Amino acid sequence: MELEYDDPFAKDFCGSCSKCIDACPTDAILPNKVVDGSRCISYFTIELKEMLLPSEMHNKFDNWMFGCDTCQDVCPWNRFSKPTTEAAFNPIPEVLNLSTKEWESMTEETFKKIFRHSPMKRSKFKGIQRNLSFLQQQQS
Ligand code: SF4
Ligand code: SF4
Repeated sequence: MELEYDDPFAKDFCGSCSKCIDACPTDAILPNKVVDGSRCISYFTIELKEMLLPSEMHNKFDNWMFGCDTCQDVCPWNRFSKPTTEAAFNPIPEVLNLSTKEWESMTEETFKKIFRHSPMKRSKFKGIQRNLSFLQQQQS
């Protein structure tokens, strides 16, 4: 199916802005505005499988357990974005409402049940547990 899509960036609309570079918790955005995926929290918390998170990243994750939106949050262009009307993108209530304690005590069975249609499945239960314990180490 041919979908509507944006063209690749033809121009640099950043000007002298460096908000995303300055705000990135792990310095993953290089001065030439290329993201070094191997330093990005989204990569670590979602794509890095079956491995421990690197110790040099301790205290750099802010409170991100699954992905990271910091560079999107600070980008001035995003103030022009509009909330989606696509119902499939709405967060499921558990994502918004689960407490840290509930996350910590969650069983794999419950995780699979709640997140069976969610992108969180990509990290898998083990990945989420690893990410949680990494954040706890940060706080200790
Ligand atoms: S998603 Fe987070 S860690 Fe990754 S480049 Fe953006 S601010 Fe940095
Ligand atoms: S925050 Fe947005 S406008 Fe500023 S440098 Fe980053 S991508 Fe460009």
